[in-house]
Amino acid sequence: MADPTVPTVLVVEDNATNMALVRALLARHRCRVAEATSAASALEEARRLLPQLILMDLQLPDGDGLEVVRQLRALPDSQHIPIIALTAHAMAGDADRARAIGCDDYLTKPIDTRSFGQRVERYLGKTEGER
Ligand code: MN
Repeated sequence: MADPTVPTVLVVEDNATNMALVRALLARHRCRVAEATSAASALEEARRLLPQLILMDLQLPDGDGLEVVRQLRALPDSQHIPIIALTAHAMAGDADRARAIGCDDYLTKPIDTRSFGQRVERYLGKTEGER
């Protein structure tokens, strides 16, 4: 059985390069990584796993990541899961929209590795291997 004290992080990202980077960065933290590459699978995996943190790309091939957030916020089991939006730097207004819909935080892409580590620590707590 999986160790219940290890938090699960669901990464929603359709770009393979970004997914690989996020996976590599999360390897520094004590967590289990689950992945989804579409809005539909993100909703399904979030409801199935009830992860401790969700990193949510907003531009997905089958829809808007914020629509997934809106749906998760409407469900009792997932309404309090911390969600960090991953927004394209050029998309002005994405950060405000993300917060308004219920994201706790956001990171702009390309991902700054230092900010990423700080955000993940904030929601998962400090872990060995981080320093
Ligand atoms: Mn995308």
